[in-house]
Amino acid sequence: MTNLHRRALVGGLTASTLAFSARAGAVTDTDVIIIGAGVAGISAARQLKSAGIRAIVLEARNRIGGRVYTDTQTLGRSFDRGAYWLHNKATNPLVPLARTKGIDLLESSYDNGNIFHQGAPSTNPSWKDATEAVAAWEMRQLLPLARLNDRPLGATLPNPSPAQRHVANIFAVEMGEDPSLVSLQGYYDLEAGEDLIPINGMGPLVLGLAGGLNVRLNSPVSTLRWNDTHGVTAIGNFGQLTARKVIITVPTGVLARGAIRFDPPLPSAKQTALANLPMGALEKVAMMLPTPMPDLPEYALSNSHIQQGQYHALVSASDKGMITALIPGPVSRALHAEGAAALEAFALDVLKNVIGTQARIVASSSTNWQGDPLALGSYPHQTVGHANAREIYSQPVEDRLFFAGDGGDDPLAVTVGGAWRQGQKAAQSVARQLSNGRR
Ligand SMILES: Cc1cc2nc3c(=O)[nH]c(=O)nc-3n(C[C@H](O)[C@H](O)[C@H](O)COP(=O)(O)OP(=O)(O)OC[C@H]3O[C@@H](n4cnc5c(N)ncnc54)[C@H](O)[C@@H]3O)c2cc1C
Repeated sequence: MTNLHRRALVGGLTASTLAFSARAGAVTDTDVIIIGAGVAGISAARQLKSAGIRAIVLEARNRIGGRVYTDTQTLGRSFDRGAYWLHNKATNPLVPLARTKGIDLLESSYDNGNIFHQGAPSTNPSWKDATEAVAAWEMRQLLPLARLNDRPLGATLPNPSPAQRHVANIFAVEMGEDPSLVSLQGYYDLEAGEDLIPINGMGPLVLGLAGGLNVRLNSPVSTLRWNDTHGVTAIGNFGQLTARKVIITVPTGVLARGAIRFDPPLPSAKQTALANLPMGALEKVAMMLPTPMPDLPEYALSNSHIQQGQYHALVSASDKGMITALIPGPVSRALHAEGAAALEAFALDVLKNVIGTQARIVASSSTNWQGDPLALGSYPHQTVGHANAREIYSQPVEDRLFFAGDGGDDPLAVTVGGAWRQGQKAAQSVARQLSNGRR
């Protein structure tokens, strides 16, 4: 018998042992399976570990972090391809955790911005006009109206003035999507405040929080059987794994696309909720400057592009040696379809309108979240008329399937802070049920 055959036999024995334990309904491989090792999955796993509950995290990628990914290779310095800010520092659960880990956090503020036209500050509108338009929009107290009758976020700015187009630009960059596709009510439910930036990127923070957890990389779940007597069975290239409960943290757009086959299928209310939490299309282009530009504000916007609906924000790194374009929605989709060169050419065009036609860069790199099958976009928004989609998505199914992630029902939804809290919450519910002996 060759080694190959011996391995096959061992594999076969393992599989049949697992199948037996599944039928017996008493023994499972672990108490809880967590699908996805992004922020929500890591948070859930930490919570379960602290409660003394066995959990295995199955992650399709060859790395931890999901849409948190600090790339230090491509440009020879850190480039957060996904999340960069810890939004709303006052309530973000990752802020105290970062401090505990001794990670320095830089202050960040949209107030430190300016609008440019052909290399000079814009006068129509000026930065002051645009910030006043934001304040005026907030003062209109749209929330009670939104509660009565949901409408597109973009419809709150009919026939926008030049200054109001900058308000629409904020919506688009924040939600990664054309504001006419986003629920006003869903937007208004989100908390906002001052932000912080982990000094060496978001990746090291999340990786540091994943230490000591049982994470299995390169393990995509293809099928989830959830009516077994013992609980649930996850099936994939790793074979089968049984547990009493599962926490699913896969992005809503990926679930809606059917990347995991649920057996039996998910209830129709859950499927409808997933369909109404589509992913936005924010892509980033990082551009390395030949020499740092200390006078660049943190946020720089090109007025002519924004007046044409080519929404974006340029964000300068704290050392002013790199500037990153954030490109959301339809423009991002169209450029993405043309390829990385088109995205990078657009970003450079915006940069030229900001700092002048003499603008030069020495290297650039763009993201591809829309083409990433494990993300299918940037982050989810609620569609118009479905402002309850986050709530329905977050509800467990038959006390076996638990859902967590940035599509969850949280004031910090669509951010790492919300994903972290949702992972923790799902794990707390699971822990309560397991300690009460509920299956
Ligand atoms: C360009 C961009 C910029 C952003 N900027 C910010 C920001 O500045 N601040 C902020 O707070 N948020 C930001 N976000 C959003 C933030 O990244 C997400 O809200 C957060 O990372 C979501 O975490 P999650 O755990 O819910 O999902 P994910 O990070 O997507 O984790 C889910 C995991 O599931 C895995 N997976 C998928 N399918 C399977 C399968 N079948 N089997 C096993 N594993 C699977 C994925 O590989 C992934 O690792 C940004 C996102 C993008 C894309």
